Amino acid sequence: MTRRIAILGAGESGTGAAILAQKMGYDVFLSDFGTIKDKYKAELTARNIAFEDGKHTENLILNADEVIKSPGIGEHVALVQQIRKKNIPIISEIEFAARFTSAKKICITGSNGKTTTTMMTYHILKDAGFKVGLGGNVGQSFAWQVAEHDFDFYVLEISSFQLDDMFDFKAEIAILMNITPDHLYRYDNKFENYVNSKFRILQNQTSADSFIYCADDEVIMSEISKRNIKALQYPFSVQNQTEQGAFIKDNILKIITKNEEFSMKEEKLPLDGIHNKYNSMAAGIAAKLNEIRNEKLRESFQSFQGVEHRLEKFIKVGGVRFINDSKATNVNSTWYALQSIDGQVILILGGKDEGNDYGILKDLVHQKVKAIVCMGADNTPIISAFSGITELYDTHSMTEAVEKAYTLAKEGDTVLLSPACKSFDLFQNYEDRGLQFKKAVREL
Ligand code: ADP
Repeated sequence: MTRRIAILGAGESGTGAAILAQKMGYDVFLSDFGTIKDKYKAELTARNIAFEDGKHTENLILNADEVIKSPGIGEHVALVQQIRKKNIPIISEIEFAARFTSAKKICITGSNGKTTTTMMTYHILKDAGFKVGLGGNVGQSFAWQVAEHDFDFYVLEISSFQLDDMFDFKAEIAILMNITPDHLYRYDNKFENYVNSKFRILQNQTSADSFIYCADDEVIMSEISKRNIKALQYPFSVQNQTEQGAFIKDNILKIITKNEEFSMKEEKLPLDGIHNKYNSMAAGIAAKLNEIRNEKLRESFQSFQGVEHRLEKFIKVGGVRFINDSKATNVNSTWYALQSIDGQVILILGGKDEGNDYGILKDLVHQKVKAIVCMGADNTPIISAFSGITELYDTHSMTEAVEKAYTLAKEGDTVLLSPACKSFDLFQNYEDRGLQFKKAVREL
């Protein structure tokens, strides 16, 4: 009998999953409680895939053999609980798609740096002439590409929400960037649950696979010491030399894999900040594990342009540099952004605060930040965290924030948008926030 698949959520991943499932001969039904974008509706209609939006018709979902759930839909949703009660397996689009490809998967997870490392790894592999797809949380969905392309490699950005619904999936190369508290509301407010979720990136790995991770991250190191890890380990560190993996010594970045050694002057890496050294080391190890030549890797590192909204050097106005780091949606990424900047900073901070602890920013704010321009619907948590440490200004829109920051800046200063908060109070998402920032700067 034909197996029936119900898919919840018809964004990029749900639509891709539906296209792949149909191709593989499943009876497919796609349901979205919100509105499905026209471009996805057109793709579904053209393929005769059954779908609905604005509701979930239970009897068309609860009769499925398996459910593919969008990572955005949490466990608390009533329908998800009903599916669980009926013991219908729930999987992620990534889990599903992996069943239908034998390509080698390089998978990147962590609290910060996923997209940058994913894009950098993809750039290096593509530059070296590999047949490689880019997917997960970036670009076209993995499932869609498995349905329509024939790649030998995939570089996938994987979030903890996706990992939660992955079981048989195996990453041939797993990369874990760092673990700092984020999204804890989805993990019963228990950090330990979130850590366990991130470590699912290692599930099913064997001694033929590789695990690349940050050895300067205490959470990762303590977790590794408790686990029996089968994969070959490639740590990276800016603090200590490692036997295999990557490190920086005397301003030289070194990568050591089985029989090979790569080195490059640290200053030649194109992106600023320690965090980007970590990202480059992780991507570089993955490249060397795929035997990319040293000369080629050096060239690819240097031609990587960075990713929009991540410490993106925008323009200078009246000698003031504007940097768009709208993707900094938690305190840790703002710490790295501040750390990477020389000179005085006017920091635009704020947004939807999910219980941030601003403590780790205080030293850097004290050293570098002339003023904080708060930009959120409710700025009280920031004002109380930083009062007495620097000057504080209360604003509630991007135009207001950018204009205020510009009046406070002197030639040579940097205005940094690195909000440490989610964007949903005033913006559609972080991209919208970054674009509005650039528009406001252009209009100064
Ligand atoms: P993610 O996909 O995990 O959210 P991004 O590459 O999009 O990561 O970067 C998100 C934010 O974190 C940006 O503000 C960026 O400047 C910062 N960042 C990038 N890499 C790292 C890293 N390795 N550690 C900490 N912060 C980072």
